[in-house]
Amino acid sequence: MKATIIDGKKISQEIREELKPRVQNLIEQGLKPGLAVILVGDNPASQVYVRNKEKACEKLGIYSLKHQMPSTTSQTELIQLIDKLNDDPAIHGILVQLPLPKHLDEKKILYHINPLKDVDGFHPYNLGRLMIGDPVFLPCTPWGVQELLSRYQIDVSRKNVVIVGRSNIVGKPLAMMLVQKAKAANATVTICHTATENLAQHTRMADILIAAAGSPKMITGELVREGVVVIDVGINKVDDQLVGDVDFESVVDRASFITPVPGGVGPMTIAMLMANTVQSAERILHG
Ligand code: NAD
Repeated sequence: MKATIIDGKKISQEIREELKPRVQNLIEQGLKPGLAVILVGDNPASQVYVRNKEKACEKLGIYSLKHQMPSTTSQTELIQLIDKLNDDPAIHGILVQLPLPKHLDEKKILYHINPLKDVDGFHPYNLGRLMIGDPVFLPCTPWGVQELLSRYQIDVSRKNVVIVGRSNIVGKPLAMMLVQKAKAANATVTICHTATENLAQHTRMADILIAAAGSPKMITGELVREGVVVIDVGINKVDDQLVGDVDFESVVDRASFITPVPGGVGPMTIAMLMANTVQSAERILHG
């Protein structure tokens, strides 16, 4: 079997096209969606991510406001900026680019964002709403994974989904989304992590395997069963090259579907961020 390659670039483009008329409609009603991105320090990878987010906004006609702050920024200064943005009616989404410099308390800062402007979906309010099956903002990367599956008509219902990784931004929220009794969900979900004994025993049970461990090429062909759907969330830099958590070469011949890195989940994250920003602005008009 040779897997179908899931084209995240194409799907993310499709999603952005679908957003265009919604943005246009908002603008016609006098409401331009606005996204504020806060970048503290000069982490080169974060700079690239922020630039890509700005470009995506520009292409869609979303107002984007970048706050570049020095790495010496204090907790109080950052909280004051978030307060200002929480009150700014031109801003519908606030995103603090992670990771933050060590002296800043990431949790306190993220908790300070108005949950109704939390387009990253990391605020405990939004994670709680997600858990009870009544989400406001879905976190962008997990939502991107769910969209890839549903737009490739990969039925999740009743399937064994195995997620490798239990972070608060990918693994855990994605598990919560896919386990809901809802459309594009209703799966039996297993979360594996660093304390999982006999990882292979779990991954070989997967109808759908989602790798979000940040460990380059750790998922090899021998860890998956024939016909598996493989979604690779990992982005790892190895010798100046980007590689996923999946050893693509050894898995591609066993899988039925597989995402590449780059060009798989990555582009989806930004598309879903745009979708959350548009949705946030729409809520102002329509409640
Ligand atoms: P993280 O480091 O916060 O979490 C990784 C998780 O994987 C941990 O919970 C850990 O328990 C588990 N893990 C690590 N090594 C493991 C192993 N050998 N076996 C079993 N479990 C293991 O990472 P994260 O923020 O969730 O990101 C995961 C990966 O996804 C990273 O490569 C990151 O760069 C990438 N990522 C990509 C996007 C995107 O847009 N495509 C977005 C976010 C993160």
